[in-house]
Amino acid sequence: MQCPFCFAANTKVIDSRLVTEGNAVRRRRECQVCQERFTSFETAELLMPRVVKSNGVRDPFNEEKLRHGIVRALEKRPVSVDQIEASLGRIMHQLRAKGEREVSSYEIGELVMLELRELDPVGYVRFASVYRDFQDVSEFAVEIQKFSSDSDS
Ligand SMILES: [Zn+2]
Repeated sequence: MQCPFCFAANTKVIDSRLVTEGNAVRRRRECQVCQERFTSFETAELLMPRVVKSNGVRDPFNEEKLRHGIVRALEKRPVSVDQIEASLGRIMHQLRAKGEREVSSYEIGELVMLELRELDPVGYVRFASVYRDFQDVSEFAVEIQKFSSDSDS
Protein backbone atom coordinates (compact mmCIF):
# COMPACT_ATOMS: atom_id res chain seq x y z
CA MET A 1 0.00 0.00 0.00
CA GLN A 2 1.23 3.45 -0.91
CA CYS A 3 2.26 5.88 1.82
CA PRO A 4 -0.20 8.83 1.97
CA PHE A 5 2.61 11.17 3.10
CA CYS A 6 5.50 10.58 0.73
CA PHE A 7 3.81 8.20 -1.75
CA ALA A 8 6.49 5.58 -1.36
CA ALA A 9 5.33 2.12 -2.34
CA ASN A 10 6.86 0.25 0.60
CA THR A 11 4.79 0.29 3.73
CA LYS A 12 4.93 -2.32 6.43
CA VAL A 13 1.99 -3.74 8.37
CA ILE A 14 2.64 -3.28 12.09
CA ASP A 15 -0.78 -4.34 13.38
CA SER A 16 -3.75 -6.05 11.77
CA ARG A 17 -7.27 -6.34 13.12
CA LEU A 18 -10.29 -7.86 11.47
CA VAL A 19 -13.18 -5.42 11.55
CA THR A 20 -16.25 -7.35 12.59
CA GLU A 21 -18.65 -5.86 10.07
CA GLY A 22 -18.00 -6.95 6.56
CA ASN A 23 -14.76 -8.30 5.22
CA ALA A 24 -12.65 -5.31 6.10
CA VAL A 25 -9.42 -5.26 8.03
CA ARG A 26 -8.02 -2.29 9.84
CA ARG A 27 -4.26 -2.11 9.65
CA ARG A 28 -1.62 0.09 11.19
CA ARG A 29 1.12 0.62 8.70
CA GLU A 30 4.50 2.24 8.78
CA CYS A 31 6.18 3.76 5.76
CA GLN A 32 9.62 2.28 5.14
CA VAL A 33 10.82 5.56 3.63
CA CYS A 34 9.50 8.45 5.78
CA GLN A 35 8.60 6.32 8.87
CA GLU A 36 5.14 7.93 9.13
CA ARG A 37 2.45 5.68 10.55
CA PHE A 38 -1.11 5.52 9.28
CA THR A 39 -4.23 3.39 9.46
CA SER A 40 -5.71 1.67 6.46
CA PHE A 41 -9.03 -0.06 5.96
CA GLU A 42 -8.70 -2.73 3.38
CA THR A 43 -11.42 -4.68 1.72
CA ALA A 44 -11.46 -8.33 0.81
CA GLU A 45 -10.02 -8.03 -2.68
CA LEU A 46 -7.06 -5.96 -1.59
CA LEU A 47 -6.41 -8.20 1.35
CA MET A 48 -5.73 -11.46 -0.34
CA PRO A 49 -2.02 -12.19 -0.26
CA ARG A 50 -0.10 -13.03 -3.39
CA VAL A 51 0.54 -16.70 -3.91
CA VAL A 52 4.12 -17.94 -4.05
CA LYS A 53 4.31 -21.12 -6.04
CA SER A 54 6.88 -23.84 -5.36
CA ASN A 55 8.98 -22.61 -8.30
CA GLY A 56 9.09 -19.13 -6.73
CA VAL A 57 6.68 -17.51 -9.20
CA ARG A 58 4.24 -15.04 -7.61
CA ASP A 59 0.63 -15.07 -8.73
CA PRO A 60 -2.28 -12.93 -7.65
CA PHE A 61 -4.67 -14.83 -5.42
CA ASN A 62 -7.33 -16.48 -7.57
CA GLU A 63 -10.56 -17.36 -5.80
CA GLU A 64 -11.99 -19.09 -8.87
CA LYS A 65 -9.00 -21.36 -9.16
CA LEU A 66 -9.25 -22.32 -5.50
CA ARG A 67 -12.99 -23.01 -5.82
CA HIS A 68 -12.37 -25.06 -8.94
CA GLY A 69 -9.81 -27.24 -7.16
CA ILE A 70 -12.21 -27.95 -4.31
CA VAL A 71 -15.19 -28.58 -6.61
CA ARG A 72 -13.14 -30.96 -8.73
CA ALA A 73 -12.05 -32.95 -5.68
CA LEU A 74 -15.69 -33.21 -4.58
CA GLU A 75 -17.14 -34.13 -7.95
CA LYS A 76 -20.09 -36.53 -7.56
CA ARG A 77 -19.68 -36.50 -3.80
CA PRO A 78 -22.53 -35.74 -1.36
CA VAL A 79 -21.35 -32.24 -0.52
CA SER A 80 -23.57 -29.21 -1.15
CA VAL A 81 -22.58 -25.98 -2.86
CA ASP A 82 -23.29 -24.20 0.43
CA GLN A 83 -20.81 -26.41 2.26
CA ILE A 84 -18.19 -25.76 -0.39
CA GLU A 85 -18.76 -22.00 -0.23
CA ALA A 86 -18.55 -22.05 3.57
CA SER A 87 -15.22 -23.89 3.38
CA LEU A 88 -13.93 -21.48 0.80
CA GLY A 89 -14.99 -18.60 3.04
CA ARG A 90 -13.11 -20.06 6.01
CA ILE A 91 -9.96 -20.60 3.96
CA MET A 92 -10.01 -17.04 2.63
CA HIS A 93 -10.73 -15.64 6.06
CA GLN A 94 -7.69 -17.40 7.46
CA LEU A 95 -5.49 -16.14 4.64
CA ARG A 96 -6.69 -12.57 5.15
CA ALA A 97 -6.33 -12.75 8.90
CA LYS A 98 -2.65 -13.64 8.55
CA GLY A 99 -2.03 -10.14 7.23
CA GLU A 100 0.90 -11.30 5.14
CA ARG A 101 1.57 -9.93 1.68
CA GLU A 102 2.49 -13.35 0.39
CA VAL A 103 1.48 -16.88 1.19
CA SER A 104 2.89 -20.09 -0.24
CA SER A 105 0.72 -22.32 -2.40
CA TYR A 106 1.77 -25.09 -0.03
CA GLU A 107 0.11 -23.29 2.89
CA ILE A 108 -3.09 -22.79 0.90
CA GLY A 109 -3.09 -26.47 -0.01
CA GLU A 110 -2.79 -27.40 3.65
CA LEU A 111 -5.79 -25.22 4.52
CA VAL A 112 -7.81 -26.82 1.73
CA MET A 113 -6.89 -30.28 2.99
CA LEU A 114 -8.03 -29.42 6.50
CA GLU A 115 -11.40 -28.35 5.12
CA LEU A 116 -11.79 -31.35 2.83
CA ARG A 117 -10.91 -33.65 5.67
CA GLU A 118 -14.01 -32.41 7.48
CA LEU A 119 -16.22 -32.37 4.40
CA ASP A 120 -15.56 -35.64 2.67
CA PRO A 121 -12.85 -38.31 2.99
CA VAL A 122 -12.91 -39.23 -0.68
CA GLY A 123 -12.56 -35.61 -1.75
CA TYR A 124 -9.72 -35.22 0.69
CA VAL A 125 -7.78 -38.16 -0.71
CA ARG A 126 -8.42 -37.02 -4.28
CA PHE A 127 -7.12 -33.56 -3.54
CA ALA A 128 -4.20 -34.80 -1.48
CA SER A 129 -3.10 -37.23 -4.19
CA VAL A 130 -2.90 -34.45 -6.75
CA TYR A 131 -1.70 -31.75 -4.43
CA ARG A 132 0.89 -33.56 -2.41
CA ASP A 133 2.14 -35.38 -5.46
CA PHE A 134 2.56 -38.57 -3.50
CA GLN A 135 5.97 -40.14 -3.87
CA ASP A 136 4.66 -43.67 -4.17
CA VAL A 137 1.54 -45.73 -3.79
CA SER A 138 2.33 -46.79 -0.24
CA GLU A 139 2.17 -43.19 0.94
CA PHE A 140 -1.24 -42.90 -0.68
CA ALA A 141 -2.36 -46.10 1.02
CA VAL A 142 -1.35 -44.68 4.41
CA GLU A 143 -3.68 -41.71 3.85
CA ILE A 144 -6.58 -44.00 2.97
CA GLN A 145 -5.79 -46.18 5.97
CA LYS A 146 -6.19 -43.16 8.25
CA PHE A 147 -9.78 -42.84 7.10
CA SER A 148 -10.69 -46.46 7.52
CA SER A 149 -9.40 -46.35 11.08
CA ASP A 150 -11.23 -43.03 11.69
CA SER A 151 -14.56 -44.45 10.59
CA ASP A 152 -14.09 -47.67 12.57
CA SER A 153 -13.89 -45.82 15.85
ZN1 LIG B 1 6.17 7.74 3.53
